[in-house]
Amino acid sequence: MDLSRTLTGIGAALLATALLANPAAGAPGDTPPSTRDFGNGPERNETAAVDEASTGAFSARTLDVPPAASTWSLRSHRGYPRQNVLPVQPENPDDRSIKLGLVPYHSIAPKLNALQKSSNRVSAEIAGKSAGGRDLYLVTVTAPESPWEAARQDHWRALIEENPGAAKRDRSLRAGYKTPVWINANIHGNEWEGTDGALRVIERLATATDPATAAFLKRSRVYVSVSLNPDGRVAGTRANGAGFDINRDFATNSQPESRMARDVVIATQPFVMLDEHGYTGTTLIEPATPPHGQNYEYDLYIKHALPNALGMEKAIQQLGHAETTRADIPFRDYAPGDWDDWPPIFTPMYAIYQGAVGHTVEIPLRVNNADYNNLPVEELQRRSRINTDVAAATIEAALTYADTNRGTLLTDQIEQFRRGWAGEPSPVIPDGFVDGFGPEDRYSTTFPRAYVIPAGTPAAARLVDHLIANDVRVRKALSGFTLNGHRYDRGDYVVDMRQPKRGLANVLLEAGRDISDLVPQMYDISGWSNGLLWGASVDSSRTAYPRVATRAAAKADPTGSVDAPRGRDLLLKLRDGNDVRAVNELLDQGIKLSRTDASTVVVPADARPEASSIARSLGVRFTAAPRGTKGEVFDRPVIAAAVSADELFVLRQMGFEVRTVSTAVLNAGFDLSGVDTLIVSSGLSYTALNAAAKAAVDAYLTRGGGVLTRGATGANFNAAAKVLPAVATAGRGDANGVVAVTGEGPIVGAGSPVHSFVYSPIWFTGTGFTVEQRYRAGATPLVAGHWQPGDTGTNGPAQAAGQAAVVSGVTAGGGNAVLFGTEPLFRAHPKGLFAPYARALFWTAS
Ligand SMILES: [Zn+2]
Repeated sequence: MDLSRTLTGIGAALLATALLANPAAGAPGDTPPSTRDFGNGPERNETAAVDEASTGAFSARTLDVPPAASTWSLRSHRGYPRQNVLPVQPENPDDRSIKLGLVPYHSIAPKLNALQKSSNRVSAEIAGKSAGGRDLYLVTVTAPESPWEAARQDHWRALIEENPGAAKRDRSLRAGYKTPVWINANIHGNEWEGTDGALRVIERLATATDPATAAFLKRSRVYVSVSLNPDGRVAGTRANGAGFDINRDFATNSQPESRMARDVVIATQPFVMLDEHGYTGTTLIEPATPPHGQNYEYDLYIKHALPNALGMEKAIQQLGHAETTRADIPFRDYAPGDWDDWPPIFTPMYAIYQGAVGHTVEIPLRVNNADYNNLPVEELQRRSRINTDVAAATIEAALTYADTNRGTLLTDQIEQFRRGWAGEPSPVIPDGFVDGFGPEDRYSTTFPRAYVIPAGTPAAARLVDHLIANDVRVRKALSGFTLNGHRYDRGDYVVDMRQPKRGLANVLLEAGRDISDLVPQMYDISGWSNGLLWGASVDSSRTAYPRVATRAAAKADPTGSVDAPRGRDLLLKLRDGNDVRAVNELLDQGIKLSRTDASTVVVPADARPEASSIARSLGVRFTAAPRGTKGEVFDRPVIAAAVSADELFVLRQMGFEVRTVSTAVLNAGFDLSGVDTLIVSSGLSYTALNAAAKAAVDAYLTRGGGVLTRGATGANFNAAAKVLPAVATAGRGDANGVVAVTGEGPIVGAGSPVHSFVYSPIWFTGTGFTVEQRYRAGATPLVAGHWQPGDTGTNGPAQAAGQAAVVSGVTAGGGNAVLFGTEPLFRAHPKGLFAPYARALFWTAS
């Protein structure tokens, strides 16, 4: 049976629905085909994030500015083993692993402590903390090394990246470099058995007495992140403690778990990596379908990924279970778009850019979600035993592949970095390069010669620090220069694309590509762009490299300043999320702020010390207010929010105090009387409110309460509660990407970036409101991503062109309202859109 065709059919039918007409049934992911977990699940619009504040007092909890990358480092001037006594966590009888007969989080540290005690091959460390504060373990299994031997491994690893030519010629490196393999387990918390399978392999490697294992460990280092999502493991959730899918976070690094994984892959530079997931019915082993990421050196990847997958398939066949007679290998078995490797948001795809042959492995038998609650315990445990066998077998097979092919894997990693340094085009891959490679697999790009990022804004500093944290090399101009007719200043940043990880640099900084016509559907997002969406100016130079002296930047220069004579009131423009946070921190300190328009805040002269301190900590710039500037005084807004977890995260990151609500919370009698503005984007349906709650919402609107909505849930609320007379139209449910927009209105439109992000895009028609922002007219507004029209050729980007994407207006009760058809806070990625969103929030609260 042609499984892939069936999947395409079901997926397309599911997705091409009129979301607004039937919001309960229309969202993608309600009844996904058995082998696909839609990346952007229905919870984003249908389940509001709730926390302790929803039943108690208003929460004062705000998020701190994200911490720097973890301080863990591979280079420690120590040999191996590096044995640590890991702190043991209290026993938690509610850990969801227990019912499945699997190792609960609290048993991992004791197990690793015992293994370290009994074997000189095992080192266990804490390489980070989860969002919920749990330890993220990293285990290294290898034969003992003296400090000198470990330092030599460090030197060789660096040589491969820094000087691939020298590495290639170095015979001692070729003979003595230990093959690095990284196993990442349990990144989705309710896909448990990767952890158990990995622990089984660690234990075997630690205790085996045969000469082959001893010799293998002399040639290899096996790194294992045992559970990358302990919060989810304990709670039985896909997401981490902050409600994020970590396996969608690798272009953004908003979560500590993805930052840890990023740091591990950079530090260990693996030849091969596995990311152990579940549950797809049949075991699934990548390589993936097209579209393939156009910035890969794909030939170097697929020549190993396919045979490694075939080896893993053979290994699960040999287990002898009726459920493991074959695997789905999407590259071999699925239709284009059914399981692609296009965005760099997934761990293995990200790892490819770091030099690894990365694979997602999906173990077969479902034990989570409804099955976890409904299946008999014996059946769950039977499934988990088979799943653990599959996880262990795939890991063992990958270790064997890496060991057997260590010479060519080394050569090919060297080649990847060499091409980057040389600025060579990626080669054209011929049909039949591996079995099944055809024209549909051929994706490539032309790398620009350089990017230039003008310095001086918090957005530029954030982007530069993000690039550096990802091991992208950034240089600082030592004097002013001209490039392609533009004048740049001393201190501006230059990304020379002749660098070992040029693919990663480009996949983050480039606009991306409109791939709507290439495949019928995609697995997850098809558009992202740190270059277009993070609020910094990023210029690309196709062929010219700036003629200017530069030096390597280890971090971005500080950007904060107070540029005003003493005694003068200060102005702060709300152009970045940090500007918004600065406002909230000043309000928190009791400073009386006012604003002259939606984006201009006046800080009194006597608050200069506080402003100076915040300028330093947040990198924001205060300027002099013209004499006599008078604004409208405003206060900390009181916000009730029915929002998704990512939106709640960003709101708190900007320093807003938020009380979370939902249909259920309002139905339980939530008091709206003190609320300034109500955000509706997830889990709040006006029609599902009981009579008392409806009356409370009506009274809130009648007295002029503010409203801010996003997406289909918000648009439905707008219509049902009669907030603004705007009529919403939705594009296909899975349509997503970077769109070009034009700013018109005074709140969101003015001074906003000219690109925005959409997922399930919406536009508004009608009269009686102000258009803040429109989808670009004239050409398709979709710059990068996947957005097809519906079956009848409607609701595509052509129909959205020129239509209103964001609108503002005044409600019948006199309150301010803003409706977003775009996704300004999506997964905390489009950071350049945070401030426009916050301006809308302040305005609706006023
Ligand atoms: Zn998964």
